[in-house]
Amino acid sequence: MLDTAIIGAGPAGLAAAHALKERGLPYTHLERHAAVGGLWDIDSPGSPMYESAHFISSKTLSGFPSFPMPDRYPDYPNHRQILAYIRAFAAENGLDEGIEYNTAVQSVERTDTGYRVTRADCRATDHAHVVIASGVQWIPNVIDLPGTFTGEVRHTVTYRSAKELEGRRVLVVGAGNSGADIACDAARSADHAVISLRRGYHFIPKHVFGKPSDVFADGGPTMPMWLEQRVFGGLLRVLNGDLTRLGLQKPDHRVFETHPLMNTQLLHHLGHGDITARPAIADIQGTTVTFADGSTEDVDLILLATGYHHEVPYAQDLMGDGPHPDLYLTAFSKNPGLYGVGFVETNGAAYVLMSQLAAMIAQHIEDRERRPERWREFEQVIATDTPDLTRGIRFVDSPRHAGYVDGVAITRYLHRTARRMGWSIP
Ligand SMILES: Cc1cc2nc3c(=O)[nH]c(=O)nc-3n(C[C@H](O)[C@H](O)[C@H](O)COP(=O)(O)OP(=O)(O)OC[C@H]3O[C@@H](n4cnc5c(N)ncnc54)[C@H](O)[C@@H]3O)c2cc1C
Repeated sequence: MLDTAIIGAGPAGLAAAHALKERGLPYTHLERHAAVGGLWDIDSPGSPMYESAHFISSKTLSGFPSFPMPDRYPDYPNHRQILAYIRAFAAENGLDEGIEYNTAVQSVERTDTGYRVTRADCRATDHAHVVIASGVQWIPNVIDLPGTFTGEVRHTVTYRSAKELEGRRVLVVGAGNSGADIACDAARSADHAVISLRRGYHFIPKHVFGKPSDVFADGGPTMPMWLEQRVFGGLLRVLNGDLTRLGLQKPDHRVFETHPLMNTQLLHHLGHGDITARPAIADIQGTTVTFADGSTEDVDLILLATGYHHEVPYAQDLMGDGPHPDLYLTAFSKNPGLYGVGFVETNGAAYVLMSQLAAMIAQHIEDRERRPERWREFEQVIATDTPDLTRGIRFVDSPRHAGYVDGVAITRYLHRTARRMGWSIP
C-alpha cells in the first residue's frame, strides 16, 4: 500500500492517523513539537493558547466520535482538560507511537509519483499522499494601526495570562472568542480596560435554559434558516436586551452571519464598568487612542486579537493563493493525493467533522489501489463539484469568514457524498 505523510499531531492530524490506522493504511506522522495536542498545549512554542481559555462548543457535542469527553468534565472544559482529552484519545488508539516528534516540515513538493516532504534538517522522504494538518491559528494577522503609538503592541498569539495585564492600561482590538476572553481578563486584572470592536455582534450565552447552547439548539426542531435566525435572534434580544446600552454597536448583520461569539461574561463586565467598549480606532498619537466616534482613551498596551492567516507556509503553491486553502469540502485538493484536515471553518464543533473528513480521505486513498475506478470518479467530483454549504446564511464578507461553512450543511453533504461513494463515516 502507498504511504501517506501526515503533517501535524493536533486533533486534525490525530483524526487523520486514526482513520488510516483503522483501515490498515501505512503512514508517516510528523510533528514539530515534542508531544501531541496541537495548539491546546500551552507550552508548545507559538501556540495561541492562554490560561483562561475554555472550549466554546460543549463537551457533549465536541468529542471525537466513539470517544466522548469524560462525564466529570464541566460543560465547557478548560484548555488543560482539552489537552488531556486529546492525549487520551491518542494513547487509547496507539496514535502517539511512532510519530516523528521535534520534526518541522519545511516544504512539500510534487514529484512524478506523489510528494516529497522535506524536514527542517533537510532530510526528505517521498510519499504517495500527504495530509496537511498543521493548523490555522499559528500565523498572526498583525494589522497596521493608524497614527503613532508609543506604548507596546502585541498580537494575542503571545498572550498567556492575566498577570501580564496587571498595572497596565489595556486596549484589546477585536472581538472573536479569544479577544472577548482576553478582554474579560483585562476587565478583572488591568488598571483600565477597553475593547475596540469594528461592528456590533450577537452575543450567544454559553447556556440557554440551563443547557449548553449547542445542546439546546441541537435538541430543537429543524427549522428553515430564515426562521431559525428570527427565533434565535428574538431569544437573544429577550436574554441580552439592547446591547447599545453597554456602549456596543447594533449588529449590522443577522444572527449566525458571523462566527458565534459565545461570551456573556464580557456583557457582565461592560455592565459593571470594568471595561469600556469603543468602535474602530481612527488615530493614535503617543498613548492617546481616538476612536471612530471621536472618543479617546489613554492606554499603554494594545493587544491585537485580529485573527490568523490560514496559509500553509511550506506548501503554499499547492494550496491555492486565496485567504483560505482551496480544498473541496475543506479537505480534498485538486492536486491528486493532497489533502487537508483542520481547515473547516464553521459554526459548530470541529472534531466530529475532522473525523468524518479523515474517514473520507482514508477511503479515497484506499480506493486508489483497490478500486481505481471509484478513485477516478471521486477525483472528477473534486474537480467539478461546487456545493453551496452556507444553508442560506450570508456570512459577513471578512477574512474571518473566507471558506466559512455552516455546520449542518457540511455534515449533511458529507453524509450524502459518503453514501454516493459507498463509504462509511462516523
Ligand atoms: C481559544 C480556542 C478555543 C477553541 N475552542 C474550540 C471549541 O470549543 N470547539 C472546537 O471544535 N474547536 C475549538 N477551537 C478550534 C481549534 O482550532 C481546534 O480545537 C484544534 O486545536 C485545531 O486542531 P488542528 O489539529 O487543526 O490544529 P492545531 O491544534 O493547531 O495542531 C496543529 C499541529 O501541527 C503542528 N505543526 C505546525 N506546523 C508544522 C510543521 N511545519 N511541521 C510539523 N508540524 C507542524 C503543530 O505543532 C501542532 O501540533 C478553539 C481554538 C482556540 C484557539
